[in-house]
Amino acid sequence: MNVKNAMEILVDEALSNYWGQLQLPCKCEICKADVFAITLNNLPPRYISNEDGYAYVKAQNFDDQSRVNILNQIVKATGIVATRPSHDIKPSSSQE
Ligand SMILES: [Zn+2]
Repeated sequence: MNVKNAMEILVDEALSNYWGQLQLPCKCEICKADVFAITLNNLPPRYISNEDGYAYVKAQNFDDQSRVNILNQIVKATGIVATRPSHDIKPSSSQE
């Protein structure tokens, strides 16, 4: 079986586009994965079984309201990870 959650692809795209603008004390891959996971947990999954399904979900989801909704969840997840990073952050090793 080859079933995917199309929301995962949509969030991945949105996160890649906005990652540089998000306010996080640490921007490593761990924190990015945390934001990704929390965002996905707060959005309804959209399962698809083939490429046509993805095109359909993408067309449906990329109206302005859905885009805003995904972004809002990313911002919320960013706030959670910023407050409680899942790993220790050394104050001296800023990546900026
Ligand atoms: Zn980190």
